[in-house]
Amino acid sequence: MSGAPQIKGWCPGALRPMLSGDGWVVRVRPYGGRLRRAQADGLATLAAAHGNGMFDLSGRGNIQMRGVREDSHRPLIEGLRRMSLVDADASVEGRRNILVTPFWQSGDDTELFAAELTQALAAPDAPALPGKFGFAIDTGRLPVLQTASADIRLERDAGGGLILVADGADTGKPVTSETAVDEAVALARWFMVTCKNHMRMGRLMTAGAALPPGFMVPRQTQSYVPKPGHTPLGAMIALAFGQMTSETLATLAKHGGLRMTPWRMLLVESARQLPQIDGIITDANDPLLRVVACTGAPGCGQGLGPTRDVARALAPHVPCGQTLHVSGCAKGCAHPGASALTITATETAYDLIRNGRASDAPEQTKLTPDTLIKAI
Ligand code: SF4
Repeated sequence: MSGAPQIKGWCPGALRPMLSGDGWVVRVRPYGGRLRRAQADGLATLAAAHGNGMFDLSGRGNIQMRGVREDSHRPLIEGLRRMSLVDADASVEGRRNILVTPFWQSGDDTELFAAELTQALAAPDAPALPGKFGFAIDTGRLPVLQTASADIRLERDAGGGLILVADGADTGKPVTSETAVDEAVALARWFMVTCKNHMRMGRLMTAGAALPPGFMVPRQTQSYVPKPGHTPLGAMIALAFGQMTSETLATLAKHGGLRMTPWRMLLVESARQLPQIDGIITDANDPLLRVVACTGAPGCGQGLGPTRDVARALAPHVPCGQTLHVSGCAKGCAHPGASALTITATETAYDLIRNGRASDAPEQTKLTPDTLIKAI
């Protein structure tokens, strides 16, 4: 296998799954960033029947089934349709990259915007956005999604007013509850005529693009740090590497509806107690929260070495406040940004990178799982 990772430029969906080392990856994008209890339970049943029973939470607030067999895809999609968990066609699904703050209340602006934007992106004349382009509806009092991948954001300014933000800009445009979604779609159209070869808004901003008039209001800076624990809306629980079994998902569904997050965590609606279930993390000091790792080999066809066992072994050695990213190749899917510590598998061993990404120049090379502990 060549060491150069393949950049596909699109994210898998349910209607357009991606082949991996352990079968097809079928990504489900829950509407409004929420799985009702029956949907979560139904997903668990479908994964046991049609996949290998494992789920991943993605960094974009989605849930993906692993190990789906080719002959199972059709009945799986029929099952997803029965639960209203799939779009009309693959192009609508591809555009519907909407991340929603998990801290919304029934009937508030956030819920409304998620529904309106879903509808707008399904319209026949919706902009044909690049595969990884996405929206963040981060309209709680304080922003919580600024570290998550998105190109167009709805946030609130320091006075509580709604603003529309192009990712990478420090200021936003004032909008109202009535205009927010129309303005977001208009900004997406502006991107499509302005972007040239830039596939993401942040890159276009870095290249010096000038936004249309009106983007003058300073943004708030995110201070929220996601961690497991109680919230006014339910219990936030974490999953090591964002991975869980269908049994874990079915058990979680018994506790409440599930709100998706980009942090490999789920908010279990209305749960007053932190559920004690095998495979979930409820302790905010758990060392596993300091490590991030992709599927790696052999589950990912591009993986040059195992990742999660390495990360699990190294987690207790990672200093508090730091993040260790273990990547199966230079693509860095699990954490595209820089980390204090990054370990990248190579064809023969592992490289160690400090304060960089999986593809950056290593400080040390040819490390083994045994020598890595000393190196970090
Ligand atoms: S970073 Fe990990 S998941 Fe992504 S392609 Fe490489 S091995 Fe696969």
